Parts: sequence; structure tokens; C-alpha cells
Amino acid sequence: MTTDPRYGILFDPIKIGPVTAPNRFYAVPHATGHTPMMPNGSIGMRAMKAEGGWGVVCMQLAEIDPSSDISNLPIEKLWDETDVLSHRRMVERVKQHGSLAAIELAHTGLRSRNFSTGMPVMAPSSFPILKPEAPVHAKAMDKSDIKAFRRSHRAAVARSRQAGYDIVYVYAAHDASLLWHFLSPMYNLRSDEYGGSFENRVRLLREVLEDTMDAAKGEMAVAIRFAVHDFKHGSVITYDKEGRYVVEALAEIPDLWDVNVAGWSRDSGTSRFDEEGFQEKYTSFVKRVTTKPVVGVGRFTSPDAMVSQIRRGVLDLIGGARPSIADPFLPNKIKRGRIEDIRECIGCNICVASDAYSVPLRCTQNPTISEEWRRNWHPEKFSISRQIKAALIVGGGPAGLECGHVLARAGHQVTLADKATEFGGRVARESRLKGLAAWGRVRDHRLYLLQQMANASLYLESEISAAEIGEFDAEQVFVATGASWRNDGVGRTNFRPIPGFTGHVLTPDHVMNGHEVNGPVVIYDDDHYYMGNVLAAHLVALGHEVHLVCPLPIIASWMGYTLEQPRVVASLHAAGVRMYPNTTAVSWSGGELNVVRTDIAEPTDAIRGATLICVTSRSQNMALYEDIIARGEFVERLELLGDAVAPGLIQAAVLSGHQKARLFMGESNREGLFLRETPVLFA
Ligand code: ADP
Ligand code: SF4
Repeated sequence: MTTDPRYGILFDPIKIGPVTAPNRFYAVPHATGHTPMMPNGSIGMRAMKAEGGWGVVCMQLAEIDPSSDISNLPIEKLWDETDVLSHRRMVERVKQHGSLAAIELAHTGLRSRNFSTGMPVMAPSSFPILKPEAPVHAKAMDKSDIKAFRRSHRAAVARSRQAGYDIVYVYAAHDASLLWHFLSPMYNLRSDEYGGSFENRVRLLREVLEDTMDAAKGEMAVAIRFAVHDFKHGSVITYDKEGRYVVEALAEIPDLWDVNVAGWSRDSGTSRFDEEGFQEKYTSFVKRVTTKPVVGVGRFTSPDAMVSQIRRGVLDLIGGARPSIADPFLPNKIKRGRIEDIRECIGCNICVASDAYSVPLRCTQNPTISEEWRRNWHPEKFSISRQIKAALIVGGGPAGLECGHVLARAGHQVTLADKATEFGGRVARESRLKGLAAWGRVRDHRLYLLQQMANASLYLESEISAAEIGEFDAEQVFVATGASWRNDGVGRTNFRPIPGFTGHVLTPDHVMNGHEVNGPVVIYDDDHYYMGNVLAAHLVALGHEVHLVCPLPIIASWMGYTLEQPRVVASLHAAGVRMYPNTTAVSWSGGELNVVRTDIAEPTDAIRGATLICVTSRSQNMALYEDIIARGEFVERLELLGDAVAPGLIQAAVLSGHQKARLFMGESNREGLFLRETPVLFA
């Protein structure tokens, strides 16, 4: 298939200083959950992006030396010669596919913790570090510290050249860079030539940029990653003030401007809060100020949106972190006219959350991410089976759809049956809630592919019982019947049913299935992820008075990992939802939720409502599976997958469906083992 002429512009080569990118697809630096101790996994992930057509593939933030130690986050290092080897291997693997390799060198300044190195944290002025709960205080850098930092950055640039990188970064973004901290009058209280006036505060960034140009020796292009707009209250680094002045002051020094917004939570905005292309308002001025190429991000998955950015002079290169995680083959799919095959990022930030957990990236849409090397899983290739088998999958939610589409792509005969009137299971229902529309992409992508394949038969409104399984002549039966919300209050805080709940409360399933809701509504959220607060936002938008009650001290606490928690609380507050953190339910009676303070277990005022919605935990829909086992047939040829095994993230259900399909195809093992990075033992 050939490239649609409308999208041809995306495949123009772009000159970036001394190097040329083969196209405009630019996989920007992003956290990957891989530490430097996991080079093979990290290389496998980036090589896959290059194979998928990304013209530039970037290494994640790499610390230049031990004084920038962001302990407990899995960040890359280029401290000394010992690190060069694995970087060189990564560069080679990326270049094999004709892509350019880039490295984002960084000193994380006030974001460093230095627990692991024991060195003092460096900052323009002496402040506690930017992790308020951590008992660490930074030292104000003196002139010799500044000189040492410049020397160290220069040496890291030399090592980048040694490793063969095509592009080297100077990093001043995300409120996570020493150079940014010098820029910001919030952190820079110096009275010497590096503080005070704008010219003084930009001095170190200019010097380091010039040092880097010099040390790159015309062999590597030099990029600057700069957040042109900071959302932090009181910041003057905004696109209409100093953010713009910085670009004006340094416009022609670097070979490439990589621009975004700060902090990370705004740069990686989720689909619940930010549309595709959401950064344009802030970054679009940059191209009018510099003649150098500009790359920017905005969760771009639509080729039309990408072309529009270029034609309207907003960007020259289309940056993608999450879109390149969700679909490493996005560029090649556009090139080959397979737009409908793109696995679009849903903007859920499970990838971000896995980095915060220090585990190799997980992705809701792409279950093969981080598995390229350790499980040898390819996102687009499945060994085509010589022996075609018939598989019956009961349940067309994320797990069943994923399992079914992988098996069908491997050539098996797939029958997928669901009792509902539509496919998608939980994502079909949840994507109708306020802010979650993009989650429907989990269903859309898989369903579209299944519908294209002659070896897949899809049946809706087909409730399958154990007695009917035999009618399908299936050699393998996959049960993906999902899970249902409990109505008894059992959850993460209450381990036994809460008096007055069962039979008298609604669950999220009721609401999503269109059950009538009368206000005022009390939501008891012992789930701590999105469902409780999404329902609150949804119901308040429908005009109800809503009270959100949560046993933990922080509302939606797990959403700190997806970077959404502060925005969730802000949006609920603005919508008029009343929130009760640190509040545990003890009973529901007479339209009152009786509660205690969680920490001291003392009663507080009851919360009145006409409806109580119980968002505490889910239980597996096991009836079919247990009936099949009880009948004794198919037991050897039966797999349970997804939420029916253990209710969890959509990402976990997709991964489970994928894994069970690979197991069936002989590409995984039941023990769950995979290649591990092996430490070297010294004598
Ligand atoms: P998961 O996240 O594990 O994929 P979901 O709850 O999203 O789980 O999806 C489960 C799907 O299984 C739902 O669409 C539901 O309609 C379907 N289902 C449950 N029991 C049966 C059954 N006996 N026969 C057919 N479909 C079923
Ligand atoms: Fe996109 Fe979610 Fe995958 Fe991250 S985890 S890349 S946000 S789909």
C-alpha cells in the first residue's frame, strides 16, 4: 500500500544542524521505567520504535554525573565511560533502521535527592528540594560548583559523541532541570551575575548551550528541550512572558528547539483533561521566533492533526512519547496507508504510573511494550500457525478482544461471543462516562482488526452457558467474562460487608447501565482510582448534588501516579462536589452514611443522601468458568483471563488476554518467566 499524498509531507527528510532526520516522526525522550541496569530491555524498546518508522528515537533523561541523582526513579545515566557501552549499543540498534539517535542529558538540580550518592543537591539558591515530603535541602552553588557543572556537562556531551549519538540535548524543562531552576526567579535568589535580571538568570543556560555546541564538534546536532510555559502558580516562565523571552534570547544557538509545557503533569496531560494538540496554544509562537526546526508534543495520533501542525507552521517535527509507546509502528502505518490500524494512545497515563513504580513501562493499548527483548514479543508480528486451531472466546471486553485479535492474526479460527448488545465490555460502558471517551479506543482498535479478518466470527447478544460450549467445536476455550462492582462495601478499607449496604445501594454498573439516580448522591470511594471521581464529575454535570467520601487522606490517591490527582480534585472542587477524605463508612441507614475519621476512628457527622453509590471493589464473574469445570468437559482446554481472574486495570486485562494468546501459540510460558538482565558478580 502506498502513502496517501495528503500525508506525504510527514515523510519529508528534515535537516537538523549537521544531521538529517529521515522523516518528521520524532520519538521524544520519555521515562521508560528501565534503569541503566536494564539496558537490553531499554534497547529493545527503542529499536522497535526505529523499526516502526520513527525518524528520531530519543534516550530518556540521562544524568550527567552523580550530583544529579534522582534516587528511586528509574533514570538513565551517562556518568562516566562505563555507561558508554550500552548507550553505543542502543545507538547502533536505532541506526540499523535508518533513524537518528538522540540523548537528553540532564542535571535535575532541585529535583535531585542524592540519597544514593550522598552528594549535596545543587541549586541556584539554598532551598529544600522539590519533593516536599523528603528531608533533603539543597546547597546554593558557588562559582566553583558552576564551573564544575559546566565541565561535567561538557564531558557528558563528549561521551554522547563517543556513543555515536546524532543529537544531544540541553535540558531545561518539566521544572526538573538545574538550568530551569537558574532561570526561574522562584528558585534563583542569587545576587551575582547568575541571578537577578532576566539576562543573568538565562546566562547559565546560554553558556551550557554554547559549551554543548562546541563539544558536539559539528558531528552531533544540539537540541534544547525547553518548557515555554509553566503552569505553577506565580511562575513567570510563561509563553507570553519569560518563556518567550528565553526563545528570543537563544533563538539561533541550538540546531533544534524541542518545546513543551511544565510540569510533567501538564506536559503529559491525560485525555480526561487535555485534547490532542493541547500544547499548541503555548508552543506555536516558537516557530515565529527561530529559523531552527521545532518539535513539540500533544498526544498526536491523527495524521490529519499532524499535517495541520506542519502546514500551519506550528511544528516541523511531530513529537510523540505516549503515541510511540502505544504504537511503535504509527509512522509506518501512515506511510503504508494503514491509518485504521493505528493503535491510538488513550491518554490514560498507565505508562507514567509504571515509571513512578520503577517498573518497565506498561501500556493499556500496547501489551508488548517492555517485552520486546525479555519476552521477544513484537507488537505487529505473530508467528503464523501452520496448524490452524479453533478457539472460542466468551466475553468481548478488553481481555477477550485482545486475545481474539492476536489469535486471529496468527491465523487461528476465532469465535468471539458476548452476551451484551455491543463489544467492549467495561470500556464500552466506561467510555460513556464524562471524560473517558478516548478509552473506547481499546475496543475500537481490536474490533476493527477482527472485523477485517475472515477467520474471525463475532457474535453479540449471545450468552453462552457451559452446556453450549460443546456446540462450537473449539479446541481451546477462553473465558473472559469480566468482573462486576460489589454492592456490599467490601474494599480496601472495609474487609467485611458494611451494614446497610447490600440491596440498598447502587454500584457503578447500575449507573453505567442507565439506572435512575436520585440526588443528593453520596459516593463511597474505597477504590482510590478513577471510578469514584469520574462518577462524581459525571453526576454533578447532570445536575446532582454530589458528596464524595474516601477513607484515605487523599482523594483519588492512586491518581498521583497518573499525574492526575491534583487536577481531579481541582475539577471536582470547581464543579461543587463536596469531598470527605480520611472518612470511613460504618453503616448506611435512613438516607445517612455513618462515618468515622479513618486515622483516629472517631465518629464525625453523618453524610445525607438519597442515593449511595458503592465504589469499593469488584468481584470476578466466574459462573461460566465454574460451570464448565463442574461439568468436567474442556477442563484441559480452558483458560480464564482478564478481570475474571482478578479485577484490575484495563491494561492488566489487555496484557492477560495477550499473554494467554501467546501461551496458546507457544510464545509464552505458564510460569510467567522471561529473560532477566543479569548482574555481573565481581570476585
Ligand atoms: P475484561 O476486562 O476482563 O475484558 P469485561 O468485564 O470488560 O472484562 O468484559 C467481560 C465481557 O464478558 C462483557 O462484555 C460481558 O458482556 C461478557 N460476558 C460475561 N458473561 C458472559 C457469558 N456467559 N456469555 C457471553 N458473554 C459474557
Ligand atoms: Fe497512552 Fe495509556 Fe499507553 Fe500511556 S499507557 S501510551 S497513556 S495508552
